[in-house]
Order: sequence, then structure tokens, then C-alpha cells
Amino acid sequence: MKLKKLPIEYEKALPILKKIEQAGFEAYFVGGSVRDVLLNHPIHDVDIATSAFPAEIKALFPRTVDVGIEHGTVLVLEEEEQYEITTFRTESTYQDFRRPDHVEFVRSLEEDLKRRDFTINAFALKEDGAVIDLFGGLEDLERQILRAVGDPYERFHEDALRMMRGLRFVSQLGFTLEEKTKASILENHALLSKISVERINIEFVKLLLGVNRKLGIAMLIETKCYDYCPGLKEQRQALEAFAALPDRPLQNEVQAWALLVDQLALSENEIRSFLKQWKCSNQMIRQVQQVVYGLQWRKKSAYTATLLYELQAENIALIESLLPYYGKTEQSQRSLAAYEQLAIKHLTELAINGHDLMTTFEKRGGVWLKEALSLCEQAVINQEVVNEQAALLTYLKTNHSEVINL
Ligand code: ATP
Ligand code: MG
Repeated sequence: MKLKKLPIEYEKALPILKKIEQAGFEAYFVGGSVRDVLLNHPIHDVDIATSAFPAEIKALFPRTVDVGIEHGTVLVLEEEEQYEITTFRTESTYQDFRRPDHVEFVRSLEEDLKRRDFTINAFALKEDGAVIDLFGGLEDLERQILRAVGDPYERFHEDALRMMRGLRFVSQLGFTLEEKTKASILENHALLSKISVERINIEFVKLLLGVNRKLGIAMLIETKCYDYCPGLKEQRQALEAFAALPDRPLQNEVQAWALLVDQLALSENEIRSFLKQWKCSNQMIRQVQQVVYGLQWRKKSAYTATLLYELQAENIALIESLLPYYGKTEQSQRSLAAYEQLAIKHLTELAINGHDLMTTFEKRGGVWLKEALSLCEQAVINQEVVNEQAALLTYLKTNHSEVINL
């Protein structure tokens, strides 16, 4: 098969392929972008594979970065674009069912394509648009089938993460797992225990965000892979409930985790330990906690001014767009308008600061100061007092003299 027209991203990268070929090497577009072009999906990263060794690539291009030279990858900077160019390689020495620590560079495209995970990820595209399909990937694309390259048992033993990758492609593409591939994931799912949580996390989040999430989760359950996902062992019912939520695509990772932990009915502290196990960042954990708290509140009642202030615009928008999953009407505009009405959006906008308070009351800093500022902040948000210095001082003296005298 030959593509008549290359997408613009490939057109732009053609001079790179040509330059490598003119130097006597082979070069092809490979990986996810070829699959996405054939599916008519937008493409993100353009990956190039070549028979040239890293040093040979570096000699050809003036601007390069060694991003993973031990794995054979050189980043080539051309105009404002950047391309990962990876030498054909085999990964012969697998240890502990994990990605190999050692790769071997080879000059053969076939060897390189053989080590790829699924037939639809193992295409190479030539500069003239010809698709090289050594494992029946075109037919699998046509029939919407996800099939491991070669013997699935061997492939999952080489790198067990491929099983999670398979499930996330099911979720992203809505494809059916080929029988032997599926049976092999079920048989080998326990090998996931050898894989770092960080790598599983990336695939799991992509699975949650896939437009065919229901199918992805159903396969996660059927193949029992969820048993090896942190905090999900024994959580089949919650996962089923999660999959049964209305079929709307999730927008981002925060929303995905928030909806999931809400189904798991975790407390604020449990959310922290669950997401810690998943190796999420502290910032992600904090934001998910806030969104879940706001969501649970909003399911029952209207926002208070204090809650709007704490959540800030970004989380309010996320919470609103989660409401339809619970059969509630999203009211983003109205809620964000209420947020915009707040007299201050941040403590720094308060007309008084710690220094002003210490000078006015001739006191040194301490607990009283933090408390006085917080009282002013709350009073302004709740429209009990205007955000002006004199008014705030009067407010403190009249209503909270006990704090000033602390
Ligand atoms: P995405 O569109 O999400 O980037 P992708 O298929 O491009 O999906 P990448 O992780 O970017 O996924 O990997 C690029 C290519 O490298 C894949 O298409 C596949 O050919 C190969 N690959 C990636 N990870 C593995 C793996 N664990 N085992 C075998 N081949 C892999
Ligand atoms: Mg990719």
C-alpha cells in the first residue's frame, strides 16, 4: 500500500529522511504516528527509525541533542521542529520481564519492527508514501484488531508493560483484542508486578482518558490486570461502576482520577495514599482532593463564597464538567460568574497585609497575625466588609479584639 498524500507533519520532516538516505542509510517514519496517519487521526510525535548509528546521525545534522543515546535515540532540531531519530535496534537481553537495559543496534529494519509491541504499531513508512507492513498490521487496522507482533506469550514475557499498553490502545481505539493476545494477557497478568508503577501509571491514565473507556475498563477487568494496579485489587465492583458512568470523554488526568476515586468512595486521606501508591505528584494529589471535595459538595448544594475562593476557576470548571456523569446539569458559566464576583481571588489582593497589622497594633508577628489575616480574608469574601484598609482595621477592632490581644 502506498499513501498518495503525506500529512503536513511528514512533509515537513521529509528533508531529514532524504538527507539520511543521501548519506547511504535507510530512514523511515515509524511507531504511533504511522498508525495514526492510517487511521486518519491527528498525529503528535513524528518518530524516525534509521540504519545509521547515533554518531552517524550526529555527524549529518548541525543541531542535535543526546536524549537517549544509549538506546540509540538522537533528537534532531530542524527549524522550529524536533524529531527523535532512533537507530534500528533489537532488545535481546530482557531481564525480569522488564524493558531491557541493553539494546543492540542493527542495520535491519525488519529486526527493529519485530521488537515492537502490536502489529498496528509496527509499520514503517517510506519517504515515497509506501507502507511497509511485515506482520499484517493493515489487515488488523481494517478489522479493528489489536494483535501482538509474533508470539504474545514471549512478547509479554520480554516486557510485561505491553499488556497495559494493549489495554490502553483498546480504550483509545475501540479495537478488539485478538484471541491469543487476550488469552495471553489473562495468563500473564501477574507479570505486571515486575513493572514500575510509573510506567503502569502512564498507560493507565491513557486508558482512563480513552474515548472507549468502557471497553478499556471491561478488558482491564476481564484480563485481571487490575489486580496489579495499585489500590485496585478487590475493587472490581467500583471499576464496574466507574465503567457504567455516562459515556462522555474525560478531558484530563485530574478529572479521570477524581471520577475514579469518587467511585472508590475514598476519604480525603485515602485519596492521598491511593494516589501516592500510583506515584502521582503532590500537586496532582492536592488538586484531585479539592475537585472531589468540591464535587461532593456541589452534588448536594450550591457553592459557598468560601468554597469558590478555595477551588479557584480551574477546579470549578473541572467540577462543573463532571456533574453530568451524575445526571446533574453543568452550570459552568453561572458558577464561574459567581467566582468572578468575589471581591478578592487571592490573599495577595487583600487591602491589608501582615506588615500593616504589625505596625497598626504595634505587635510582633505570631499566631494572632495569621488568624487576623484569615478573618479579614473570610470577611471580604463573604461581603461582610469592603476590601479597604481602614474598613478592615475597624472590622478587626470591633469584631475580633480578642485576636488582636492574643
Ligand atoms: P502514542 O500515540 O500514545 O504516543 P505510541 O504507539 O506512539 O502511542 P510510544 O510510547 O510513543 O507509543 O512508542 C512509539 C512506538 O514504539 C510504538 O508505536 C511501538 O512501535 C514502540 N513501543 C513503545 N513501547 C513499546 C514496548 N513497551 N514494547 C514494544 N514496542 C514499544
Ligand atoms: Mg508516540
